[in-house]
Amino acid sequence: MTSNPSIFEKTPHLLVLGMGGTIAGLAPNPEENPLQYQAGQVGVDALVAHIQSVVPEGVKLVSRQLANINSRNLTDALLATMGLAVREALLDPLVKGLVITHGTDTIEETGIFLQAICGKLAQNQGKRVILTGAMLPSNAPGADGPSNLLDALRWASTSIDNCPGGIYAVMDGRGCLAIDLAKRHATALNAPIQNAPSSSVGLINPSWLSGVKAVQAAWNEDLPIPNEGEWPWVEILTSHAGARPETITQWLNSAVKGFVVAGSGQGGFHDAWAQPLNQAMTQGIAVVRTTRTGAGETLRNIPEVDALGCCASGSLTAPRARIALQLALNAAKLANIASKPLTWQDFFARIADLPVIR
Ligand code: ASP
Repeated sequence: MTSNPSIFEKTPHLLVLGMGGTIAGLAPNPEENPLQYQAGQVGVDALVAHIQSVVPEGVKLVSRQLANINSRNLTDALLATMGLAVREALLDPLVKGLVITHGTDTIEETGIFLQAICGKLAQNQGKRVILTGAMLPSNAPGADGPSNLLDALRWASTSIDNCPGGIYAVMDGRGCLAIDLAKRHATALNAPIQNAPSSSVGLINPSWLSGVKAVQAAWNEDLPIPNEGEWPWVEILTSHAGARPETITQWLNSAVKGFVVAGSGQGGFHDAWAQPLNQAMTQGIAVVRTTRTGAGETLRNIPEVDALGCCASGSLTAPRARIALQLALNAAKLANIASKPLTWQDFFARIADLPVIR
């Protein structure tokens, strides 16, 4: 096993893409204060080298550093770089599977992004792309990164018969679809997989697997990655007690293209926003309603019937709905150039209406 691309790029291998995060973090005083650390300090080569003695016999690894950031600083441009690298690797017959080491703060955004831009490609190529990360920095006592990375590599390298190609995630001994992963606790070791329908990495649960297959059957066509400088500007606005119309009106003279409203309860928003949101939609700003509760579905006719120009997010959380709306707006723009009669709502619904694994 090696992480040296020059030796193994001509032989079948697993590709490990490094994006940074806590899994690559270092704490100055790991014994006393492991949670005070800097993310994105250790190279992906070193993360791979650390576990190489326990990687299954015969599995060749090649690593490639795409970024080494704290994922709270993830950008549109980095998502595009990652998306292009993943697509290229999925088409490379020598790459048997991929693992991406990533910060957990925005792993939720990356999960939906990869599903939307290459979920079908991964399925068709029969390859798994597996996101993983850590909650403790690499030098903390009991660091969880090495075991998460090892689990991800093992899962990426096992036969396709036990679980189809697709975009998955692994944390704390469990695997799930990457679209189900979201950080739901600030510090717990299973924070990104809490509440996600998941399966033990070692023993795939049949009912989870049939849910995975239903999602994959419903995902028919990957969406394009927006070109550099062409990612639509989409903001998340949270409704709350004491909400003011100015939260909406201040955007109306900007270049913003969409709002994701993280509403209260079932995705309703403060009455003070009703008129300015109507104004936004009249101006052509896309509006998606979702719920700030963090779970459950937002339906198009509850609590009110949605106005034209507004879409309910289904099961998508606000961060996922934001990425979905960016991709949908971009896809609709390209469809329009190609004279296809498809709107952003058509593309958004493809993602929002995916089956939910219970
Ligand atoms: N702030 C870190 C990051 O997202 C947290 C983590 O990786 O767990 O990069």
